[in-house]
Amino acid sequence: MDKNFKEEFTQIIKFQPPLYKQRHQFVKDLVEKYKPKKVADLGCADCSLLWMLKFCSCIEVLAGLDICENVMKEKMHMLSPLPVDYLQPSERSLTVTLHHGSVAHKDPCMLGFDLVTCIELIEHLEESELKKFPEVVFGYMAPSIVVISTPNSEFNPLFPRVMLHRHPDHKLEWSQAQFQSWALETARCYNYSVEFTGVGHPPTGMEKVGFCTQIGVFVRKYPQTGESVQSDKPTEAVYKTVFKAVYPSLKDEKYLQNAVINEVIFTAQIIKHRLMSKRKECSDDPERKSKFQPSMDCFSDYLGKLVVEKNMEPFVSGNEVYIPLATIFSFPKVNRLCGTFEKLCKLIAGKVTLSSDGSAVMFNIEYENEEN
Ligand code: SAH
Repeated sequence: MDKNFKEEFTQIIKFQPPLYKQRHQFVKDLVEKYKPKKVADLGCADCSLLWMLKFCSCIEVLAGLDICENVMKEKMHMLSPLPVDYLQPSERSLTVTLHHGSVAHKDPCMLGFDLVTCIELIEHLEESELKKFPEVVFGYMAPSIVVISTPNSEFNPLFPRVMLHRHPDHKLEWSQAQFQSWALETARCYNYSVEFTGVGHPPTGMEKVGFCTQIGVFVRKYPQTGESVQSDKPTEAVYKTVFKAVYPSLKDEKYLQNAVINEVIFTAQIIKHRLMSKRKECSDDPERKSKFQPSMDCFSDYLGKLVVEKNMEPFVSGNEVYIPLATIFSFPKVNRLCGTFEKLCKLIAGKVTLSSDGSAVMFNIEYENEEN
């Protein structure tokens, strides 16, 4: 490489966004494309990729593995559910687990994953670990997709301070040819196909050096049968679980019940409020009495339609207002949460005050009458 040419570039090479973010974004895009449910990040370090992935709504199981327990523990609290996750539980379930152990060892907790990511990991492996790595990841874990990223050594001359490796802990840094021949041989051996790409574009005129980070995306050629997932695979656990978080989810009956009760009361309160305003309007203007005059907003239009079409009219009797459950059930959010009318009745039984025949939510308006 021409020295002047190289120096010109070493002054200006700065990736925007930073390269680690581009690598993580690459994985996120892959997740959006393939929609895996179970994702494991090997060599997860400070869990920043896992944290980013927990927002992908297709993922139900996230696992991290690292040989360094302390680096994982530094920020693992970021993977815990937040108050808002309890206030508004998600429709999907999500479990996040962190394990302490080595990719050179097999552990059954790593079975059954759809996507396994190894971002800037292989260059940190000792020779003996790198030898075992393909059998553990491709042979034993055998996910549908594996992503491996590693530095491209051909790019290094463009960095002014890099002498041998980009990081003192790197045991190797491969050229494109070296990485590709290792990846192709691994893919052939374990029945995967592999495609190469990368992040961190070289400067114009230097395209030959390739991406700063080279990436191999491996896709398993044949679907795994139920038998091959478990059979002949060691069942002894060798990793230590250092963190586990189960996120609140509407798949869990207790959170679903809470959400349904809240939604039922909220919907019933709105209907009651509209009914009371309507009655007040009528008593202020007797001409309008006995006519259910729809207001201009969508809610009242919708309610008016229900009342006319299905005879599900809320009504007042003495100090009580009755909002038929059938009316509440017909509201989209309640309907979606419960699925069936029977389920709605089951979930709110004993938790919401109902009319004696159980067909309507009942509110006492004595206090509200006094106020008026
Ligand atoms: N994947 C992270 C950081 C990679 S740095 C990111 O994208 O930012 C490499 C990580 O691999 C380090 O945290 C290191 O502790 C871990 N590591 C090294 N050898 C390992 C092994 N044999 N098994 C599991 N993790 C290992």
